[in-house]
Amino acid sequence: MVATNALAEYRRRRDFTKTAEPKGGRGGRGNSGFVVQIHDASTLHFDFRLEVGGALKSWAVPKGPSLDPHDKRLAMPTEDHPLEYRDFEGVIAEREYGAGTVIIWDEGTYRNLTTDRRGHEVVFADALDEGHASFWLDGSKLHGGFALTRTRLGGGHREAWLLVKHDDRRASAQGTPDPRRARSARSGRTLRQLAAQAQGDGP
Ligand code: MN
Repeated sequence: MVATNALAEYRRRRDFTKTAEPKGGRGGRGNSGFVVQIHDASTLHFDFRLEVGGALKSWAVPKGPSLDPHDKRLAMPTEDHPLEYRDFEGVIAEREYGAGTVIIWDEGTYRNLTTDRRGHEVVFADALDEGHASFWLDGSKLHGGFALTRTRLGGGHREAWLLVKHDDRRASAQGTPDPRRARSARSGRTLRQLAAQAQGDGP
């Protein structure tokens, strides 16, 4: 069962009579999933979400995940999202929290690669609590090992993390594609196409 309190902040920020985003609480599907959404909000960013303990642990990644191990991508933690959010692609209405268009850029499953110094697996949720987690992504776009490591912004109060590709056989110098040209893994649409279509569907 989902820890309902984990979603309290998520729900507090939203008016579910005005947004089609899920309220949460329907539970999981078995596999540990991940999703990367592109969110054209007040600033364009990627939202990186990993299924952990019945919710989606979430980070806003301004530049998006990179396949290049030299790129250290800033990842700012955001509130836990309900599992159903991995299916959300659409337009969040003007004046609502996070207003703007969301596409599912990539999705798939992940497995934990985090080990302690003796090579024993560390429980994934504990690894995140301790500020360092390694994992393998099997997505339609992203593949291979990645690490999330907690760091600090100089003088700031907010936590910051870095998302970095492992230097493994799936690493490449390709970086991240242009988010305005990127297509949804689910529907093949760009942000602009999805926004135009949503407008056409409206009253
Ligand atoms: Mn976002």
